[in-house]
Amino acid sequence: MIYKSTLPEQTIPDIDIYSFLMHDNEHNVKPTAKDTVVTIDGHSGRTLTHGQVKDLSSRLAAGWVDNVGLGPGDVVAVFAPNQYDHIVLYFSLLAARCTITPGNPAYTEDEFHHQIANSGANTLVTVPALLPVLLKVCDKVGLSRDRIFLFGDNQVDGCKPFYSLLPKDNNRRVSAPLNGINPAEDVAFICYSSGTTGVAKGVTLTHRNFVGQVLINVNFDPENTHDDDVLIAFLPFYHIYGLTLSLNSYYRVMPVVVMSRFELELFCQLIERYKVTFANIVPPIAVLLAKSPIVQKYDMSSIRTIGSGAAPLGEEHIDALTKSVPSEVRQGYGMTETTSGICIQSLSRNSPGSIGILLANHEAKIVDENDNELGDDQAGELLVRGVSIMKGYLNNDEANANCFTKDNWMRTGDVAKFDSKTQQFYIVDRIKELIKYKGLQVAPAGKEGNSRKTCYQTNFFLSVLSELEGLLLGNSKVADCAVVGVYDVKEATEYPRAYVVLQPGHEGSTTLASEISDYITAKVANHKKLRGGVRFVPAIPKSASGKILRKDIREWIKKEQEQE
Ligand code: AMP
Repeated sequence: MIYKSTLPEQTIPDIDIYSFLMHDNEHNVKPTAKDTVVTIDGHSGRTLTHGQVKDLSSRLAAGWVDNVGLGPGDVVAVFAPNQYDHIVLYFSLLAARCTITPGNPAYTEDEFHHQIANSGANTLVTVPALLPVLLKVCDKVGLSRDRIFLFGDNQVDGCKPFYSLLPKDNNRRVSAPLNGINPAEDVAFICYSSGTTGVAKGVTLTHRNFVGQVLINVNFDPENTHDDDVLIAFLPFYHIYGLTLSLNSYYRVMPVVVMSRFELELFCQLIERYKVTFANIVPPIAVLLAKSPIVQKYDMSSIRTIGSGAAPLGEEHIDALTKSVPSEVRQGYGMTETTSGICIQSLSRNSPGSIGILLANHEAKIVDENDNELGDDQAGELLVRGVSIMKGYLNNDEANANCFTKDNWMRTGDVAKFDSKTQQFYIVDRIKELIKYKGLQVAPAGKEGNSRKTCYQTNFFLSVLSELEGLLLGNSKVADCAVVGVYDVKEATEYPRAYVVLQPGHEGSTTLASEISDYITAKVANHKKLRGGVRFVPAIPKSASGKILRKDIREWIKKEQEQE
């Protein structure tokens, strides 16, 4: 059975995302919009109005074109914690008609290298604190310092602030509408995701994906939008969830209070100070908001809606959250590959635990392992099709062939069902290998079927891959391994755990588990640490073709948790 969105189809204009937000939207916003503050630095209190964002980004775009020579085909990597003027940078690069690849500033040297090399980025924007590691990476990939730019006002180590590119002539700017962009084909952002298996891959998202995403979101339930809406944004702008929230807010001329990282007390203070009405979170933050006494010190009454996504939010957490912060909690579901949310709970369809209804301009089906369509109340893999589905993985025919069916349905790797009673979708399991720690992706495997042998055969795996099994196999004491997620109900998150077969002669050591855990900690971004521990086993369960039987390992975990 094919489920078509029950919401009215939106007409998606044939325009790039920059022109759509700057030019087309001009007719929809009030004349006073230009003086409305749209971005507030939660740390320093600095602000920019809608008009200032537009003015700065169009002039900066001219700076990129004139001084750096950026244009179509150029890819610019952006690694930075959230900045209040992130949106100026993004808009200026889009106006210069290049492609942006945003990434996690907590990456290690190898992880940065993977994204820069894989995306083909020839220009980089970052913050001074990341320069020591990024300069090393840039040396490796041959990026000179005149291609590295900084947020802020200062030149550091020969790298200039990007604002230094603003043309002296105030009239020199790139104005919307832009020409020469094919919205359905040209890529606005390349975000990184491991998809259903393997290393982080470049997810190419077109201008049309973003225009569609903005329109289907802002028209989702207009009755839930108010003139005094204010959003608080700590979700990273390098991840599709935070990125699309910031674009949607600009379209709506909605002020966004920007936090560079999550700190509970500051979060509550900012909600009180700016009378924040919308907060988008991930499940572990719901737990914190429900439990911490800090929350009760502040006036949180302005909050109307809390959106939760990126990982499952259980009913018990929703109850506890709404007791602590009275609000409407709405769960959404989406992926980097779907340009963020494609299912959201609506005012009337919000049964606890559901992911709500399918957004406009999308259809879905649920299939069994042989791709046969299933019906209501039957669980199977969720396949989706529609305006916000990615163009594909960058330069990766194999991954694209695995991800898309012949008739262009995209496999999500998530197990869902459509409930006939509530008329809503539910995510009930995940078949892909992905682990989600606090909403961030942790890919267990470098490549399915990796063995110690294939790892050594191809240096690529050892030098470039930071995915956990590939790294573990690089440790001389590890003969074989598998990494799986262990779900912690109390904290509403998964923890990566390694199951390890030791090389002969190393059994019996009491310090080896922490040694292996430290070995990984030194090589990966913080969210990929083996927080679920290291367990030693005699063998990793594998299929006849050598595929790790993760299901069997999940059964071990289930049994262990039942005994606790
Ligand atoms: P990402 O590309 O990092 O946004 O990760 C996408 C994946 O996160 C999905 O394929 C799901 O496995 C998971 N996910 C996102 N939202 C939810 C949700 N509401 N419930 C369960 N899993 C979710």
